[in-house]
Amino acid sequence: MAKSRFEYVRTYEQDAILLPNTYIVIRLDGRGFHRFSAHYNFQKPNDKRALCLMNAAAKQVMQQIPDVAGAYGQSDEFSFVLSRECKMFDRREAKLVSTFASTFTAQYLFLWPEYFPDTPLDGNMLPSFDGRAVLYPSLREVRDYFSWRQADCHINNLYNTSFWTLVLGGGLSEQDAEQALMGTNSGEKNELLFSRFGINYNNEEIMYRKGTMLIRDVGTGGSGSASASASESTESIDVREWHEKSKRQIEREKTKRRKAEIVELHVDIIGNEFWTDAGRWIS
Ligand code: ATP
Ligand code: ATP
Ligand code: MG
Ligand code: MG
Ligand code: MG
Ligand code: MG
Ligand code: MG
Repeated sequence: MAKSRFEYVRTYEQDAILLPNTYIVIRLDGRGFHRFSAHYNFQKPNDKRALCLMNAAAKQVMQQIPDVAGAYGQSDEFSFVLSRECKMFDRREAKLVSTFASTFTAQYLFLWPEYFPDTPLDGNMLPSFDGRAVLYPSLREVRDYFSWRQADCHINNLYNTSFWTLVLGGGLSEQDAEQALMGTNSGEKNELLFSRFGINYNNEEIMYRKGTMLIRDVGTGGSGSASASASESTESIDVREWHEKSKRQIEREKTKRRKAEIVELHVDIIGNEFWTDAGRWIS
């Protein structure tokens, strides 16, 4: 195609390319969901329909983008971790982040009537999600990243459960509930829930307490790269060999991921257990 004299404006574009051979984590977060959830009368502290809708939208994203190894969601956020070898959009950050945010938003909108059949969306209050990409050099940081999000889920959920129990069960105003909880630690919140309301926090629904982890269960054996993940012992592999190896393997692993079943888990991801055979879903 002939170039126009306007073509030069393209040279002003600046592409941020994400470092190769690093894990890409893309976190999406609902914009203004405090207001959004109030507008659509989400049940407090946890609207189950809304959480299941988030999970369903995230699952669709995973289905459509095979580079995603796993995802973790809570509240109005979802984090997707991409395989280290991901070459999607040649790792252009803006392309990746905007595609995740818009694909997720489109799915959330499309699936809304399934989860909120009696609540039509209002054109003046539609959901949107912001996104960011973060790079992590090893599985250690990826694990700590997910632990950080789950710890956040725990802290917020314990607070919100205490807060709404005081308001809805204890008849306190929102201001008084906030006052009552100010400066309390988690032990004190647990105690307050139990002694005043007979609620054992540990019996609250596990999805509320732990959030949702989605992994592609690609099974054990076969890919060969899985074993490297636990020890991160790649020092011995020379760089050229790593690249040659990855070419064949990347395609094979991608096919495997595409076919694999997406499993939804509500489990502790901070302790060791969840990560002992992490190689079956992330490498
Ligand atoms: P920002 O645009 O900065 O992200 P925000 O209002 O979305 O602002 P967040 O910190 O992301 O703030 O918090 C999301 C809020 O959405 C929660 O505090 C809660 O009020 C509400 N929310 C999200 N999911 C649910 C749910 N499943 N049930 C009840 N409330 C929810
Ligand atoms: P990429 O994902 O790289 O953007 P693409 O297929 O979207 O790939 P574009 O260069 O963005 O490629 O071109 C968009 C294409 O969509 C057009 O070439 C045309 O085929 C089609 N298209 C877009 N809008 C219309 C429209 N209003 N009517 C008919 N075709 C359209
Ligand atoms: Mg935010
Ligand atoms: Mg938000
Ligand atoms: Mg949030
Ligand atoms: Mg296009
Ligand atoms: Mg175009």
